[in-house]
Amino acid sequence: NESKSLNFIQQIIEEDLKNNVNDGRVHTRFPPEPNGYLHIGHAKSICLNFSLAQQYQGKCNLRFDDTNPVKEDTEYVNSIMEDIKWLGFQWDGEPLYTSNYFDQLYEWAVKLIQDGKAYIDDQTAEQISEQKKSPSEAGIESPYRSRSVAENLDLFERMKNGEFKDGEKVLRAKIDMASPNMHMRDPIMYRIMHATHHRTGDKWCIYPMYDYAHGESDYIEGITHSICTLEFEVHRPLYEWFVKNLTNTDYRPKQREFARLNLSYTVMSKRKLLELVTDHHVNGWDDPRMPTVSGLRRRGFTPASIRNFADIIGVAKRNNVIDVSLLEHCVREDLNKTAPRVMGVLNPVKLIIVNYPEDKEEFLNIENNPEDLESGSREIPFSRELFIEREDFMEDAPRKFFRMTPGREVRLKAGYIVMCEKAVKDADGTITEIHCTYDPKSKSGSGTEECKRKVKGTLHWVSAKHALKAEVRLYDRLFNDEAPDGHKETDFKEFINLDSLSILDTCYVEPSLQTAKPEDHFQFQRIGYFSLDKDSSAEKLIFNRTVSLKDSWAK
Ligand code: ATP
Ligand code: MG
Ligand code: MG
Repeated sequence: NESKSLNFIQQIIEEDLKNNVNDGRVHTRFPPEPNGYLHIGHAKSICLNFSLAQQYQGKCNLRFDDTNPVKEDTEYVNSIMEDIKWLGFQWDGEPLYTSNYFDQLYEWAVKLIQDGKAYIDDQTAEQISEQKKSPSEAGIESPYRSRSVAENLDLFERMKNGEFKDGEKVLRAKIDMASPNMHMRDPIMYRIMHATHHRTGDKWCIYPMYDYAHGESDYIEGITHSICTLEFEVHRPLYEWFVKNLTNTDYRPKQREFARLNLSYTVMSKRKLLELVTDHHVNGWDDPRMPTVSGLRRRGFTPASIRNFADIIGVAKRNNVIDVSLLEHCVREDLNKTAPRVMGVLNPVKLIIVNYPEDKEEFLNIENNPEDLESGSREIPFSRELFIEREDFMEDAPRKFFRMTPGREVRLKAGYIVMCEKAVKDADGTITEIHCTYDPKSKSGSGTEECKRKVKGTLHWVSAKHALKAEVRLYDRLFNDEAPDGHKETDFKEFINLDSLSILDTCYVEPSLQTAKPEDHFQFQRIGYFSLDKDSSAEKLIFNRTVSLKDSWAK
């Protein structure tokens, strides 16, 4: 039964299609306010809106909901477009802006005044909100509620012409001050803001409110399914009231609500993300610790992993919190299939093969990705002096330590079996070199008896004289608390993890990485997935750890 696997929005759409609602069209929109960078919650909404359009041969608009000039900026507009395209989606036609409709919205507001359904209120925002009372108690009507149509029209025009200061007057819809739905108690439609808008400049000093502008913009664009998050469910009657009172066609955009994405160990409101940026808790919106699309991209997440994440979590009608480890699982799964395997040593110590000729070097063949048969192989240099991980050596090792310890053998990946001899230490007892001998007949892939000998451990390594020095940035969760903004008494910033970034400045990677480009993905064998950072240069390679190989948080 196919319908069982449909989510509830798809079910609504299929029902609408069956009943030929709005001529059987499917037209969605993604309506970001350009007041910040997109985060993973927006990505969920993007995947949902664009995929529905694809699935039902419909269209999806990109509409910048730019009705608050004080907070909005072209920088945000550009980053939003870049992020949507990066995620793999393309909006229908040109990007659209609510500000394109300011003239039409103004005319419609005049019509409501003429119909006696809107009035100018001279009270302050505080007075207005006080008079709304609470759901259990009817609100108080404004003393300005019964102004004549002529006076309202005159005042509204003068508001538009800039005769009043910010906050001196508002336009309110005249609906019902006793409605059990607080949003129906004469909501504000327009406010005065003498601010320069990123697109309309100084043409306007009055700006429409979300509730008024949104449904009307949907109507203008021919949107059929206006999908938003659950908080707006209570706004729905107002959305419908405006559409009903301003238009007289059969076509009706319909608002539908789904549960927003909440992710553990992070915050997702743009206001809070902006605070992290402006207070320098992170290095910009695209800091790899941020839950922004640009941060995830820089960290090394792939578009496919984010789309897959959105798919797995699905759409729900109830709010819940998704564990961030699910997102990490999705990128691990994708990179396991696609990321080339390379050798990188994060915490190096010298390994000297004492019986390997000093002037010799050779090139060993190694497969690029065992999960991808078409990825081929490459040659990596091998010589007498290598770097291995400091943690891969232990002087007095327990029986089950299958790495390097005096008297035991390990295999060097794609190379030889070596016998560990001893560690060389400096005066403080710090290990400076490890000595070993190799078995020349044990070369990987040579098919000899020696090669087939079973050794328990295989280590990664790089050839010291060929390796490239690199900086590696390791990231931990940005917050120590599962729900940093879920505490009434404590500001979310109190939960910032002060150890969320560690920089390793002396790592060594194999020479093939010289040509890596930003956003290239790699698996550093035995360590994790890494991506070249945009700060990287040919002289100084910088890698970000996307995720470790296994979920270190799992029990
Ligand atoms: P924020 O609270 O982060 O500022 P917002 O809802 O004010 O978010 P908008 O730019 O208005 O940000 O959002 C654009 C679209 O993205 C809206 O349709 C909104 O419903 C959706 N959206 C925002 N946050 C989430 C989320 N956490 N999960 C799912 N969808 C979201
Ligand atoms: Mg919004
Ligand atoms: Mg917002």
